Amino acid sequence: MRPLVLIVEDEAPLQKLLAYNLEAAGFEVAQAHDGEEALALVDERVPDLVLLDWMLPQLSGLEVCRRLRRRPATAGLPVIMLTARGEEPDRLRGLETGADDFVTKPFSPAELVARVRAVLRRARPVFGGQALAFHDLRMDLAAHRVHRGGREVHLSPTEFRLLRHFLETPGRVFGRAQLLDRVWGDDLEIELRTVDATIRRLRRALNAGGEADLLRTVRAEGYALDYKPGRPVGEAPLTDAENG
Ligand code: CA
Repeated sequence: MRPLVLIVEDEAPLQKLLAYNLEAAGFEVAQAHDGEEALALVDERVPDLVLLDWMLPQLSGLEVCRRLRRRPATAGLPVIMLTARGEEPDRLRGLETGADDFVTKPFSPAELVARVRAVLRRARPVFGGQALAFHDLRMDLAAHRVHRGGREVHLSPTEFRLLRHFLETPGRVFGRAQLLDRVWGDDLEIELRTVDATIRRLRRALNAGGEADLLRTVRAEGYALDYKPGRPVGEAPLTDAENG
């Protein structure tokens, strides 16, 4: 999965230049032209990094950064602030913006791509091979750790394997028998309702910060990992009747 970079920049030519160079460097790109649009996009899908112009119309880059830091889902989201020469980045650094790095305009595209990579490496040490990701969820396979936004999610080994299975094919619906087979293997003693119970615990752990529910219950079918803005936390699990 390619890392998603959200570019927030009101100057169209610079926005275009940044998008072109990041895409050429292998990143997926989302673009916003002001702070409100940026926050709305982040609500839909949390990016892996935000390139945030300091001088934006209406909401300033500083205010956007503060708001991102206040939300649990984006508190740990890497932010690189773009500042113009003369905006005194040294002084801005002292303002506790929460930005991970500053890049002063004008900059070379190569330099910017290098800074993006460096910040991503610091923020997500295993990015690019040993990690699975979906929406604001990250699974570090080497360290056996899961993060949702800036929050660490603690899972049992079985919950971890179950989540890994979903993360490998987001959006796809799996029946309980399928999950049993693929996650629990050939342990014949396990019952289908164990799957439901494990899903319930996984869901509780994933949503413990009050985030949107990422596990969809498909009536009479099974479960899928997907994201729909505004889905209530802890959507009802299969009823006993559906459990058969
Ligand atoms: Ca600007």
